[in-house]
Amino acid sequence: MKLLKEKIQQEGIILSESVLKVDSFLNHQIDPDLTVAMGKDFYQHFSKGKKVTKVLTIESSGIAVGLTTALEFGVPLVFARKKKSLTMNNEVFVSKVYSFTKQETNEITVSKKFLSADDHVLIIDDFLANGEAALGLVSIVQQAGASLAGMGIVIEKAFQDGGQKLRNAGFHVYSLAQIIRLDHEKKKIEFREEALV
Ligand code: 5GP
Repeated sequence: MKLLKEKIQQEGIILSESVLKVDSFLNHQIDPDLTVAMGKDFYQHFSKGKKVTKVLTIESSGIAVGLTTALEFGVPLVFARKKKSLTMNNEVFVSKVYSFTKQETNEITVSKKFLSADDHVLIIDDFLANGEAALGLVSIVQQAGASLAGMGIVIEKAFQDGGQKLRNAGFHVYSLAQIIRLDHEKKKIEFREEALV
């Protein structure tokens, strides 16, 4: 997605050879126009021949783009919670996710009320690195007995192995921008021109 790649080039901060900070439009401050455009792009891609009844993401950075995607499909957005709320009883699906950026394992939960075996779920997330977050969400979809329509990722770091792992497992992964290299020294971000599907 051209607009997103331009934004990443203009505002992305390379923290290391493996971590990109994009807090000016995705992870802290949010760009509304870009977020709406990303929702439309995911809709265009995944509405072809796929049934989607729910969009599923993880709090907090997936929520904005998950919402604009859900709006296009006209379906609810469900976000997995990282901290178990006191008002959530045991009626939840639980999965463990190791966080690449925080280097800690979190339990993510989704209330059983909001996902069922009748659902066709589209997973949306902000970043794909080693695929831990995506696999945690897949586990929740499987626990619900729901079917998985695909995974839409805003920024895939293609030099990490998550994308390959998920595609090899047969999941339909679509990324709006694929980064093949973060050059910390030269402050250069290289994209893969043709997005892998
Ligand atoms: P994974 O679970 O695929 O290893 O990592 C994906 C999750 O880690 C995303 O949900 C995102 O929150 C976080 N993440 C991974 N790499 C980056 C990065 O380079 N920058 C930012 N801002 N978040 C990242």
